[in-house]
Amino acid sequence: MPGTLTVASTADIRPDAPLAPLTTIRVGGPADALAVCASFRQVTDALAWAARRGLPVAVVGRGSNLIVSDEGFRGLALRLAGRLQAISVRSGARLWCGGGASLPRAVLRAAAAGLEGLEFGASIPGSVGGAVVMNAGAYRGDLSQVLAWAVICDAEGRRRVGPADLDLAYRHSSVGPGQVVAAAEFRLRPGDPGAIQARLDEYRGHRRGTQPQGVRTFGSVFTNPPGESAGRLLEAAGMKGVAVGGARVSPVHANFIEAAPGCRAADVIALMAEGRRRVRAAGGPVLRAEVRYLDPERGITAPPLPEIA
Ligand SMILES: Cc1cc2nc3c(=O)[nH]c(=O)nc-3n(C[C@H](O)[C@H](O)[C@H](O)COP(=O)(O)OP(=O)(O)OC[C@H]3O[C@@H](n4cnc5c(N)ncnc54)[C@H](O)[C@@H]3O)c2cc1C
Repeated sequence: MPGTLTVASTADIRPDAPLAPLTTIRVGGPADALAVCASFRQVTDALAWAARRGLPVAVVGRGSNLIVSDEGFRGLALRLAGRLQAISVRSGARLWCGGGASLPRAVLRAAAAGLEGLEFGASIPGSVGGAVVMNAGAYRGDLSQVLAWAVICDAEGRRRVGPADLDLAYRHSSVGPGQVVAAAEFRLRPGDPGAIQARLDEYRGHRRGTQPQGVRTFGSVFTNPPGESAGRLLEAAGMKGVAVGGARVSPVHANFIEAAPGCRAADVIALMAEGRRRVRAAGGPVLRAEVRYLDPERGITAPPLPEIA
């Protein structure tokens, strides 16, 4: 692979790049190549570079909802950098963000400008692009409520799309493989700075009381089934504290998995499978993974869990 990396692209393309440090759970192997892109043009060039070689592409945002396979990735991983991590306040209560910008930083920037509407994202440690793709949300808010438009890049070029084009639903969007959310603009409202700050304090305080702190996790493992809580179902099935290898279900919240040193992606997957099996055996629904998996050959997929009837 390194021999093929010399072919010209405006993007910075690095061979044999470790991916575990780019994720919050910090497991998994290296990608054959990693493109670090600081402009729309670089994103499009990197995607075209991969398309010409028939390589799968996987965008890695802030890696806060991603398990990388222990075998790594036989394709091109892509990250956003430079200007595509920037945040700026625009007229009309708008906030422009590069797709690689930190969502919590965007929340702080909005609050500093006296703009409300994005507070729900204060403790969602993803990128703005990842938050659009996942339609991330909390405290009855989600990206679909504030997104004005996003810039999507693919191997052919870029286009601006509105929320209706993205089919945003609970932890779902139509953004597909080979597409990169390179920027997004939020439509916010002027608000009372004291009230905005009070909401931020309330949401952060709630997190500290209900979720594991200071440990390697990737947020919610499973989505909540309609009218139910995945955490409650897993807790009732006795999953709190259950461990496989270096992965353990959090004793604080059963829908979180914590990784100890030496943890492997395979440990995390096996623990997910056990939780899902137990909930189903107890008469509950088949839980659906919220976390995404980077498969060595296929790119981003759902985690490889056994079929359950
Ligand atoms: C402690 C903790 C708490 C969390 N709390 C919440 C919560 O309350 N609500 C919630 O919704 N989530 C929560 N999460 C999960 C996670 O933060 C969100 O899903 C977030 O939106 C993921 O963004 P990311 O940049 O980290 O994406 P990644 O994990 O890097 O990737 C996730 C998916 O998005 C794709 N992707 C990422 N960036 C782009 C892009 N620019 N263009 C195209 N595709 C892209 C990836 O390919 C992958 O399919 C939490 C996670 C942690 C660790």
